[in-house]
Amino acid sequence: MTTNEKRFPLNLSSVVDQRGALRKSPTAMPQTAMQNAAIHTKNLKTNLPPLAKTAVTNPTSSSTSKRESDRISTNKALPSAGMGMVSDKIRQAMVARVAQQGVKDNLVLAALEAIPRHLFIESGLASQAYIDASLPIGHHQTISQPYIVARMTEILRNGKNLQRVLEIGTGCGYQAAVLSLVAKEVYSIERIKALHELAKNNLRPMRIANIRLHYGDGMLGLPQVAPFDGIILAAAGLEVPRALLEQLAIGGRLIAPVGGRQQVLQLVERISQHEWTSSVLEQCHFVPLHQGVV
Ligand code: SAH
Repeated sequence: MTTNEKRFPLNLSSVVDQRGALRKSPTAMPQTAMQNAAIHTKNLKTNLPPLAKTAVTNPTSSSTSKRESDRISTNKALPSAGMGMVSDKIRQAMVARVAQQGVKDNLVLAALEAIPRHLFIESGLASQAYIDASLPIGHHQTISQPYIVARMTEILRNGKNLQRVLEIGTGCGYQAAVLSLVAKEVYSIERIKALHELAKNNLRPMRIANIRLHYGDGMLGLPQVAPFDGIILAAAGLEVPRALLEQLAIGGRLIAPVGGRQQVLQLVERISQHEWTSSVLEQCHFVPLHQGVV
């Protein structure tokens, strides 16, 4: 699965590179995120019919406590309008493209098919919801492209049932919704208050019981909930924050975009209390990881 893989144990300081430089040169996929976006934007018509709202039921919902902030309310379903079939078909085509790009995990593909991406995007852009591109969600942030959401989720899952997962960078809540279908508990942190609120509003009607949204600096993680058997970053730092490595369960996986202008997906696995392995997967393009809250 991976290229450029390091299999010997690394200590924490070798994973967290204080100078911000990656220790291995990235290996490019034939299509990077940016190229995918450009190709699909060019090839697909953007005047698709308006998309309907559909409710999503979470098959893996858990009964975790209410002590965490902002439990997603489960009591409102979105009306299922007549155009639902149209969005279903367009979404199936999107999933087929993602599979063609190499995502094989059927549970992840099913999750992508189940989550109505158009409901996470402002209505003016909804017709572009199923092209393989990142799209603006306000505040200079973007919803990640479907391929990268699927790919990162597949890598995180590694064919296993995930229990507790942490996402850094909730954005509009789309990735969290996808994760909620492959993990028992999903915690997601967003540093921009308005986006935290947006994600709450997007997710509330979808009957997803196993997502907890937090407003805060995701670089600090959620020590009170750790350890996590999966951690996923939706924003790129020059290095993986140390706190997140510490909050990874032994045997757990962390997937993160790392870099500045040139970014790569980095997979970190914790193999013991003091040892992590790291591998570089493919090129990617994410918004930057920032410290603090706004
Ligand atoms: N997963 C999101 C992608 C959002 S883009 C989705 O599906 O839409 C990345 C997000 O990371 C942005 O909303 C940005 O505000 C957030 N972010 C950046 N640095 C952060 C930090 N330190 N803590 C929490 N969120 C952060």
